[in-house]
Amino acid sequence: MSIALPPLPYAEDALEPHYSAKTISFHYGKHHKAYVDNINKLIAGTDCENKTLEEIILKSAADATKTGWFNNAAQVWNHTFFWNCMKKGGGGRPCGDLAAKLDAAFGSYEKFVEQFKTAAVTRFGSGWGWLVLENNALKIVSTPNAETPLTKGQVPLLTVDVWEHAHYLDYQNRRPDFAQTFLDKLVNWDSVAANLSKAKWK
Ligand code: MN
Repeated sequence: MSIALPPLPYAEDALEPHYSAKTISFHYGKHHKAYVDNINKLIAGTDCENKTLEEIILKSAADATKTGWFNNAAQVWNHTFFWNCMKKGGGGRPCGDLAAKLDAAFGSYEKFVEQFKTAAVTRFGSGWGWLVLENNALKIVSTPNAETPLTKGQVPLLTVDVWEHAHYLDYQNRRPDFAQTFLDKLVNWDSVAANLSKAKWK
């Protein structure tokens, strides 16, 4: 068994003009694929060969000699999650229960947008902006490099990739424009709501 590169949930040009086919072609076809290829080389012939991606992430996060394993495994997971956080015709205000929960946690949709955008834009260097569930509370966090809420007792609900490779072809250095467009035009709120209902409030 090896770690698979999951198919994209849409065609490479589905998110045009907000996220180009060229970006997805490189981001999914080169970057994401390279993380998959790398982790498969690392686990080949080891006792992790038959472990799930999540198991490899948690095990390598706790082992200082396995940084390369963690970086590649976590990036595989983060990217697969990221693709599912977007859809054609997405973005804007969510509705229903999710909208009420965002209002309760952040004050309003506008305040949620402001905080999420700040987390994404102020992450120095490479990383990710996230909406997570932690101890029954919705929170906005950011992680550097490959780090993921999975190892921090948080349930990921939504993420935006803020590595330069995620936005440079379409937005160059304008990370705030990418984050704003992600929120206005790309977020798949159905996917966020599904992640939240799977997470279950305890
Ligand atoms: Mn990326």
